[in-house]
Parts: sequence; structure tokens; C-alpha cells
Amino acid sequence: METTFDFIAFDADDTLWHSERLYAEAQKQFTQMLSNYHDAEWINDRLYQTEIRNIHHFGYGIKACALSLIETAIELTEGRISSKEIQKIVEWAKIMLNSEVELLPHVSQIIPQLSRQYPMMIITKGDLLDQETKIKKSGLGKYFQHIEIVSQKTFESYEKLLKKYSVEPRRFMMIGNSLPSDILPVLKLGGSAVHIPYEITWLHETAQEPPRDHSGYYELEDLGQLPPLLDRITENRVT
Ligand SMILES: [Mg+2]
Repeated sequence: METTFDFIAFDADDTLWHSERLYAEAQKQFTQMLSNYHDAEWINDRLYQTEIRNIHHFGYGIKACALSLIETAIELTEGRISSKEIQKIVEWAKIMLNSEVELLPHVSQIIPQLSRQYPMMIITKGDLLDQETKIKKSGLGKYFQHIEIVSQKTFESYEKLLKKYSVEPRRFMMIGNSLPSDILPVLKLGGSAVHIPYEITWLHETAQEPPRDHSGYYELEDLGQLPPLLDRITENRVT
């Protein structure tokens, strides 16, 4: 039977392995550090504002997060944060960058299995060195024909990638945990997109409502449900 997709592409952070909980943990320690100055809610709110403001300077990832933590700490303590505490934030970033890659459930079985049926790629955004390191640590690199680390995942960036690999949108499927980054731009382009929500989502990655009526949109609970979904789509298209 002919396969339905020329490429199936996966997001990496919180789709193949845990990531967001590292940030949540750092944020928890950060609110504790500043607890003498402000309550947690206000700190989180200001931190979020700083991160959004800084995206177009620093992009995404751990280094960008650390710089925003430092900037927020200086702002919220009106300059009273100590160099020792700033050192601590830098240490958190190093711990995050060096932490083990922990695969999500089903990933270690499903990825090798699907790679025998479909050409696959990873499309991830964030810091180049960090993402390369995680792909290496995950041991999954060999299952993907292409690994694309992009600065952002927009309609334009997907359009460019599909052109680069000469893939028609209707023969392309993207799988990921973020509606605005992994799902909506791909649907707009005419591709298929599978949303697998992760237990926590960074505020910036939460979108309105899932586009449940959009053709090509699918929602799964975990990656283990992907092979039967692909079989179903293939059967329906061929007959
Ligand atoms: Mg993700």
C-alpha cells in the first residue's frame, strides 16, 4: 500500500522528550528567591512579560530564559539582587542544559517503528547547541532523515522547509504539543497536523481553541496512538 505522507515531522521538546518541566522548576526556584520582594503571581507575571519582550532579541531556549530571569530579578528588586543570586541563576541554566534527556512514553518504540515506514524529520526551535545536544543524548537522531532547528515556527518557516524538501503540503504531517507552533501554521499551509498536548504548556504556546473542525487536524493523547491513526488515514485515502 502506498503511504499517504512523503514526510512526517516531529516537534522535539515536550513531544519526544520532557522539557517544559525544567523551566517550571527554575521558575519555582526563582519565585522563592524573590519571595522577600513580591508574591509568586506578580513575579511570574512580570517574568512572562520580560520573556515575551525578549523573544525577538534572544529567541527561545534556556539561555534566553536565563537572561530574562536575570533582567526580571534586577527589575523586581530595583537593583538589590546580589551577584551571588545572579550567579545562582546562571547555575540553574547550566543544570538545565546538562540535564538528562527523558523520552516521553511510547517514543522509544514508536519512532523506530515508524521510521521503517515513513521518511521522518524533526522540526524544533530553540538554541542550536542545546537542541543538537539533546538530539544526540536522546539516541533518536538516526531515525530522522532531516533535523531542522529553526528560530521560529511560523507559516513562512514551514513553507520554506516544504519547498526545500519538495514536499507538497497535503503529503506532509506535523506532530507536536504546541498549537501555535506545530499545528496552526501547518494546517494553514494545507498539511495535516497531530496535536498531542503535554502536561504543562508555556503560556506563550497556548492558543485559543484547538481547530477541531479543520480538515487534517487530529488530536491524540500520546504517541502510542499515532500508528493506528496513520493506518486509518492511509486506508481512507486509498479507497
Ligand atoms: Mg514542543
